[in-house]
Amino acid sequence: MKVSRRDFFKRSVLSAISVPALALLMKPRPAWAEPTSPVSPSDPTATALGYVSDASKSEARAARPEGSKQFCENCILFPNAPHKIDGHEGMWGKCNVIQGGLVNAKGWCKSWAMKPGT
Ligand code: SF4
Repeated sequence: MKVSRRDFFKRSVLSAISVPALALLMKPRPAWAEPTSPVSPSDPTATALGYVSDASKSEARAARPEGSKQFCENCILFPNAPHKIDGHEGMWGKCNVIQGGLVNAKGWCKSWAMKPGT
């Protein structure tokens, strides 16, 4: 099977992103380390995954089939009930991939995967 340079590059980038993301998923965090504020726009994991706190502002999401239905709140990697944070609009919760801060329930990133039953 012949792999084009473009496909090779895409697969390399996805692998580079997936390995640290999976490592973060597997690593349990102590309760004191749980984030209590929104994730920083400069968070390396959030940046690599194209996270946006307002899903409607993502071109990558818009390009996906049925992308308009994808939000953090219906992602399998958003296991909790979202809650408010003082000084920030919207509802927020912990993400199993982006662990540097809370993500917006109406946010999105490239790791979105449908939560069963939604
Ligand atoms: S993995 Fe899911 S919950 Fe986490 S930022 Fe991406 S879309 Fe949101």
